[in-house]
Order: sequence, then structure tokens, then C-alpha cells
Amino acid sequence: SKVFADRIGRIEVSATMAVAAEAAKLRAGGANLVDFGAGEPHFPTPRHIKDAAIAAIEANFTRYTVVPGIPDVRKAIVDRHACDFGSDYSIDEAIFTVGEKHALFNAIQILVDHGDEVILPVPYWVSFKDIIQYAGGTVVYLETQEAENFRITADAIEKAITPRTKAIILNSPSNPAGSVVSAEDLERIVRLAHERGIYLLLDECYVYLNYEGTPVSAGSFTWAKEHMVVLGSLSKTYAMTGWRGGYALAPKSIIANLSKLQSQQTSNATSIVQKASIAALAGSQECVTEFRAEFKELRDYMLKKLAEIPGVTCTKPEGAFYVYPNISTFLGKGGIQTATQLATKLLHEAHVVTVPGEAFGTAHHIRLSYPVTRQNIDEGTRRMGEFLKRLA
Ligand code: PLP
Repeated sequence: SKVFADRIGRIEVSATMAVAAEAAKLRAGGANLVDFGAGEPHFPTPRHIKDAAIAAIEANFTRYTVVPGIPDVRKAIVDRHACDFGSDYSIDEAIFTVGEKHALFNAIQILVDHGDEVILPVPYWVSFKDIIQYAGGTVVYLETQEAENFRITADAIEKAITPRTKAIILNSPSNPAGSVVSAEDLERIVRLAHERGIYLLLDECYVYLNYEGTPVSAGSFTWAKEHMVVLGSLSKTYAMTGWRGGYALAPKSIIANLSKLQSQQTSNATSIVQKASIAALAGSQECVTEFRAEFKELRDYMLKKLAEIPGVTCTKPEGAFYVYPNISTFLGKGGIQTATQLATKLLHEAHVVTVPGEAFGTAHHIRLSYPVTRQNIDEGTRRMGEFLKRLA
């Protein structure tokens, strides 16, 4: 008889986490790696946020809280969002979760049934497809064009809708390509979903990391609130990846069901992290501006260095903190057939950590995360250049 339930067989280990594990093994063996694998800021968490957490511990704010988060953290979420994006959520339209991934996982669990279709633009962040499949949903992949900067348009979304479409995933700026949905297309997508009663799951964890335009949240389209779940994260915005703080903004009935599921699952997110998140959201936003300025410079520096490697081409990401170069000229050379094989050899032979495009649904790319020092960008791209030259 079988041991494991069918549902666990429907998903894979997160590819980015698998890469991190492989890199950790090499590092333990003494290898000096340049790490473009990790999807996180390289800055420490700002002082005032750490201080709030320390104060929470000292004040013994260390017990269970109510499941969806203390009123002050929910208020800090809705106030920040209203101030930055002109949204109009009340406290009972917000829930604080153990990272945004938690909010996303649970939102899909409460909305998506077996056989429901969920539209997912490609390239996509690894976890979306597995989270949909775990819920029993059917992933409908929506291809985008590299020549158009992997841009997602309302026209393309509209064509992918069928009578079985339950939800649409939108991640703008996106991981891995840094593509941004234009303000016009965003409004059209919100409208067409709302008119058809389709739920829009808006992964806005990179909303503040937009280098070409002003950050826009779909939450500003208050008339479509009924069919939107806006997902946000403290991780990238405030350099808090390890703390695990995220949230969802949605109509009361959705929040009530997210809270119901969370009550049988994690209960509240960590009490101390809730206090730290209040400091992050309600405190000075100078760190957000500083981080964005630094990431933009690192993006430009990384693009410049990549452009110096013959055979590598790369779209210009408008947001997030990844580049997604096309490496197709090297496939079929030196025994390398796939991006996964290329990334594996880059790791073992050049000691550069990248994530292969297959993890994001495309065959001809690798993803490089650029929140690292300029010296690391220099050294990592130098090693890549030498390795690829030997292949060419
Ligand atoms: N959504 C996207 C698109 C991401 O890239 C990530 C992290 O890499 C997450 C969600 C997870 O965010 P969190 O740390 O808040 O769970």
C-alpha cells in the first residue's frame, strides 16, 4: 500500500531552494562561490525594525495573538497601502501571514477547487504552479514574448479565459524577468476579471522595486475589490526575508476564510514579527527609497557586465531584482543540452550559483539575482564569461 497522499506527489521541491541546498553542500566543502541564486536583498534589516522586535521580546510580547494579526499590524498594513497606492481597505479586510507565500498558498486553497483553471503567465515564479496543483487546480500557462520584454497584456489574458477560469495570477514586477504590467493593461485586466467574476491574485511583493515608473497596486482600483486578493510582503521591501511577514488584502469574506484556514494551521504569525512589521510599515520609508536606488544601480551594472559576455543576450528588467539572460547560443555545446545542465556546470565548474530557466517555465534562460556587491558581480560575470568562452 502507498505511504504518501496523492497531493504531495503533485508538487516538487522549490527549484530555488534545491539550488541553495546544492550550493550549501559545495560551500561546506570549502568552495568559494559567487551566489546569484538567492532571491533576497543583501542589506541587513534596518535598525528601527530590529529595535522594535527586541523591545517586543523585552516587553514579553511573546504569547499567542489573535489569528489574523493584532489590530495594530492590520492597521499598519491598510494605512501604508492606502497612503502609497490610494487603496481603501478596512482592518477586517487584511490578514497578517507567515510571509506572503503563506497568504498565497492559503488564498489558492480557499478559492481553487479540483478542475478549476488558474491562468499563470510564463515565465513565472516557481511556487505558483505547485501551489495551484496542490489545491487540485489546473494551471493554464500563458506564454509571453521575450522580444516584448515578457510583458503581460490584457489582450493575452482575455484570450486565455475559459468558462472554467477561476483565477488569474499576476506578479508585477515579476520574478524572474522583472517585467511590469503597464498601468493601462493593469486596469483592463482588473476590469475584465471583475466583469467575469474571476479572482485576480496579485502578487505585489516587488511593487516598490519598480525602476522605470511609479509603483502601482491593483488595490487602487477600489471598484473591483470584490474580485481581488492583493498579496504583499515585508521580505523584499524591508530586507526581512527570514522574519516571515506578509499579508493579504481582500474582501471580508475572503479574509474570514483565510483566517479560518490559518486558525487550523499556523495560528498567528510570530508575535515579535508583528511588532517589527508595525515599525517597518508605520516608520520612516527612507530605507525603501534607498534600497530601490541601490538595486537600480546594481541592475544597470549587472546588465553592463552581462553585455560584455559574447553570446549572452538579456532583456532589461523594469523591476524586482533579477536578470533573466538568454543562453540559447550555448545549448548543444560542450555536452550541455539544457539550461539546467548549464546552471549545474556553472555551479560545479565555475562556482557561480544561478537558477535554470526550466524552474520558471522557459528553456533558454538562467536567472541571476543581483542584490550582491559590485565585486561579486565583477567576479561572478568574469567566471561566467570564461566558462562560456570555453564552451563556444
Ligand atoms: N512571490 C514572489 C514572486 C517571490 O519572488 C517571492 C520570494 O522570492 C515570494 C512571493 C515569497 O515572499 P515571502 O518571503 O513574503 O513569502
